[in-house]
Amino acid sequence: MINVLKFGGTSLKNSKTIFSVSKIIQEKCKKNKIAVVLSAPAKITNYLEKLIKIAINKKRYEKKILYIKKKFYKIIKKIYKKNKKFNFFKTKKKIDKEINFIQKNLKSIYILNQCPDNTFAKIISRGEILSTYIMKNILISKKYNVDIINPVKNIITFGKILDSYVNIPLSNKNLKKIKIKKNSIILMPGFIAGDKKKKTVLLGRNGSDYSAAILSACFKAKVCEIWTDVDGILTCDPKIVSNPKIIKKISYQNITELSNLGAKVLHHKTIKPLQKFNIPCHIKNTFNKNKKGTEILDLNKKSKKKYHASVTYIKNICMFLIKIKKKENIKKIQKILIKSIKFQNIFIFSLIHFINQNSIKFYCKKKYKKIIKKIIQKKIFKSKNEFKKYIIIKKKLSIISVIKYKITKQKKLINKIKKSLYNSNIKTFLFNNNISKNSISIILKSKHIKIGIKLIHKIIINKKKIIEIFLLGIGGIGKTLLNQISLEKSNLKKLNITINICLISNSNKILFNENKISIKNWKKDFQKIKKKYEEKDLIKTINKITEKNYYINPVIIDCTSSKKISHQYYNYIKNGFHIVTPNKKFNTRNTNHYKKIRKIAKNKEKNFFYETNVGGGLPIIQTIKNLKNTGDKLISFKGILSGSLSYIFGKLEQGISFSEAIKKAKNKGLTEPDPRDDLSGLDVARKLLIIAREFGYQLELKNIIIKNILPEPINKKISIKKFLKKIEDYNKYFYKKVSSAKINNKKIKFIGKINKNGICSIKISKIHKNDPLYGIKNGENALSFYSKYYHPMPLVIRGYGAGKEVTASGVFSDLLKIVL
Ligand code: ADP
Ligand code: ASP
Ligand code: MG
Repeated sequence: MINVLKFGGTSLKNSKTIFSVSKIIQEKCKKNKIAVVLSAPAKITNYLEKLIKIAINKKRYEKKILYIKKKFYKIIKKIYKKNKKFNFFKTKKKIDKEINFIQKNLKSIYILNQCPDNTFAKIISRGEILSTYIMKNILISKKYNVDIINPVKNIITFGKILDSYVNIPLSNKNLKKIKIKKNSIILMPGFIAGDKKKKTVLLGRNGSDYSAAILSACFKAKVCEIWTDVDGILTCDPKIVSNPKIIKKISYQNITELSNLGAKVLHHKTIKPLQKFNIPCHIKNTFNKNKKGTEILDLNKKSKKKYHASVTYIKNICMFLIKIKKKENIKKIQKILIKSIKFQNIFIFSLIHFINQNSIKFYCKKKYKKIIKKIIQKKIFKSKNEFKKYIIIKKKLSIISVIKYKITKQKKLINKIKKSLYNSNIKTFLFNNNISKNSISIILKSKHIKIGIKLIHKIIINKKKIIEIFLLGIGGIGKTLLNQISLEKSNLKKLNITINICLISNSNKILFNENKISIKNWKKDFQKIKKKYEEKDLIKTINKITEKNYYINPVIIDCTSSKKISHQYYNYIKNGFHIVTPNKKFNTRNTNHYKKIRKIAKNKEKNFFYETNVGGGLPIIQTIKNLKNTGDKLISFKGILSGSLSYIFGKLEQGISFSEAIKKAKNKGLTEPDPRDDLSGLDVARKLLIIAREFGYQLELKNIIIKNILPEPINKKISIKKFLKKIEDYNKYFYKKVSSAKINNKKIKFIGKINKNGICSIKISKIHKNDPLYGIKNGENALSFYSKYYHPMPLVIRGYGAGKEVTASGVFSDLLKIVL
């Protein structure tokens, strides 16, 4: 039994790869009788096609032919350098002969202004003729017997000259007549064949795969091996997606669908003859020959395995929209249209007619645009004017198809694809269910094709839960967050979550990496950046990044306390980002903004998480949401909401003076750099406002009543140092407050309150021994909610509410909520 091997242009692109191919042939022929089909070296066919177009357009082509000549000369020179037994002069003579042939024919094309199809076929297939000749001489130099099959004389076709189909029985008959030596290697140029008159025809671009399949069918080969530059059939084109998976086994049916819907790895006509004669086909990598590759075979059982999920695409699609006059019969016109288009062997996608609007819409490859236009003009419209008025053609479209077992029934998955395309601002023109239940196609603008494919491939194949973070602010919380993410690597892996850090910025530098920033080296990489930026340019930079790249779950983590940055949240959400932040600035803007951001996030299906706005990592916001969702109603609230003030008031109880307590807190990093910011009560007011709003109160920051902590208004004009000195004047005042409370078994605390009328205030209060807030000190927070359900004893949440570790862990947990 014979084995058929086909080597594509990518395997024959230069002397080195041709050498690798010859080695594979020599190894294989030791084990089996082999027949080898060869393509032209990569790009040669395209170049020849270009030359013909140049000649038709009466432009100079002579110099351009030299390029091809030089390319072949270079190949054989290098082969000769390595292998002196290679017949260089004979091969060179053959190259000269073929180049002369091309030149002569181009001359007549130039004169005639046109190129008949059979001349086109002859010129464009010279690459195959030459690579076969070169391979023959390499093998002869190694003392192998070689027989060349002339496909023009033996492989007989029908159909169009440039895209023919093979008559297998007739070709079989011819091949049987050829005398082939017993121990010889058979070589055959791919891509070409002959018509009934034995004149050159083409099997269609990329058609050498089909040549190999035909030869396999005629010889009833044991296997047809397609050698190319990838490890097998992949879940997507590796030129677009960086991490496709190899499909080890695939059914004839599945691969046919894949190549019909655009996967270039196999020519779409290849499978039918192999399937008919049940010949397995292996896809192998010339440059990684020991890899198993993909087996294409008859997986006849009704198993899901028959279908492997994959994503394909076809570029250069155009849309036809034909408006039909009301009085005309749209169904009849549609029938005429289909018949005429089918007659031309043109494949169109999704013909739909809209009876109400009286129009027909369909898609086809751009190369068929002219013919289809002619058909429509001739068959449907009477005059040119009418044609212009009633037809719309849209170009620059592409199709992405998803092949997956019974995908048309997986509505959830289809919706997920739709949503993520929509969220990435990719408009899809049509979501079309193909005839098969195992594939769907999406039409979109060509400029979105790469992002679309990557996005869909991630959803279908890489089911990892991916989060891409854009971290703004690398102070204590930001840095700690990165550290926590890095430490949790293995746990994240178990949860199937991948966190990619895409951007890190502080107030004057941006570190960005399209793939991902190394979590280990980010500090060094950040330091290396010299270019400074202004905060206002951040949004522009991020917009540009998102336009060029694709993300599944991009998240802005705002670890700044910047108002300006928080005012950009709308833009970020519109551009597809989720927002996670401990920054309270947005949630304390006026009620209109408070409502608007929630509405926009809901419409865009993005998360806006801010658990750490109140109580650091303590589960406050989530608890309030849970209470509300279960029908609970707040009666009143009382809480110690500031870690620094909790610490300071705790120290007072121990007999430490007020000024000393502040200094201690400052030295421990518990206060803001300027302790006046804590003592103003504004930060606590913000937290209280956020709590009240979560419960549904419509309040503004100015509605929160702040009773001064200090006995006199804070002087903001003096330096921090002077202020800390000035504070000593208040020691007595606080000492008295603490002592008088103590008499009544009470302690003084700085409290935020919401009373039963919804009035919010913050002030120093005396707290009784029986109150849950009585024992709070050392920087702890405590929040007690008196509600319809939690009454008379309140629901209390208590724990450290400040500090970078707990806050960062709260941000981290918000982040994971996006995918969990
Ligand atoms: P050859 O020159 O060997 O015929 P082609 O360029 O025609 O090679 O086909 C191989 C190419 O097909 C690969 O380099 C790859 O970019 C492309 N391709 C597209 N879709 C797929 C897929 N699903 N699996 C593997 N390769 C694919
Ligand atoms: N050389 C031809 C082409 O580029 C055929 C092939 O490579 O299969 O279309
Ligand atoms: Mg190919």
